[in-house]
Amino acid sequence: MPELPEVEVVRRGLDAHVVGHTITRVEVLHPRPVRRHLSGVGDFADRLTGVKITAARRRGKYLWLPLDTGDALVAHLGMSGQLLVQQADIPAQRHLRVLLELDAPNDLRFVDQRMFGGVWVSDGGAELPTEVAAIALDPLDPAFDEDAVVARIHKSSSGIKRLLLNQNVVSGIGNIYADEALWSAQVHGERPGNRIKSADVRRVLTAARDVMIAALAQGGTSFDALYVNVEGDSGYFERSLEAYGREGEPCSRCGSALVRAQFMNRSSYFCPVCQRRR
Ligand SMILES: [Zn+2]
Repeated sequence: MPELPEVEVVRRGLDAHVVGHTITRVEVLHPRPVRRHLSGVGDFADRLTGVKITAARRRGKYLWLPLDTGDALVAHLGMSGQLLVQQADIPAQRHLRVLLELDAPNDLRFVDQRMFGGVWVSDGGAELPTEVAAIALDPLDPAFDEDAVVARIHKSSSGIKRLLLNQNVVSGIGNIYADEALWSAQVHGERPGNRIKSADVRRVLTAARDVMIAALAQGGTSFDALYVNVEGDSGYFERSLEAYGREGEPCSRCGSALVRAQFMNRSSYFCPVCQRRR
């Protein structure tokens, strides 16, 4: 699933290729990815046709394109969503769900194999869509209040990994970067927030920010090959992962074999020596 760095890579691509352009035609090939546009597919197309895209913004894993109508086109990539900027003469992909033609040589295409993602128009959402306002700031947001997030985590009896994944506490961090941040800060993900020293919580958040910035510089992590930038290219941060997906491989810090444990229908990867549960 794309996390903050992968979504930010897409945002940068949109900023470079679609901002300033007008949507000339909208075609919805499958209604499911437009399900969050409650007034229907026809209204979705009407609200976007002839409208200019003025910016490309992101909070956590949400993207939005402010429009000159004051509305916003919001996108969430879900598990397998892709926003591709492609020349209009490139044939449609098998999983193309929404096609936006632009007054440019390129189309903007929403492709989504599993269709957990979606696109919709947010009324008056150009500045900040209400759906996005509901989630916490992410660690790369200039307004991110680290002290407040540390205090929030420190008050909770939930495991710190679960808190890192809670988009109401801090947004943008998913399974991969949570495991990487916890490995880096040498904290076990099941330790309750209120049993970890504030300084250690702070180290986890700093590590999350650092690892996501490093991932961004390498185009993100394309672990399941579904995440790509707007030009369809994979990122290559996977090679730099220290914990995630490395079960049985040696910890680069202490040499112990990394382990995998069940976590909320998924997996957690960690070093049993560097990250003691206590
Ligand atoms: Zn270790």
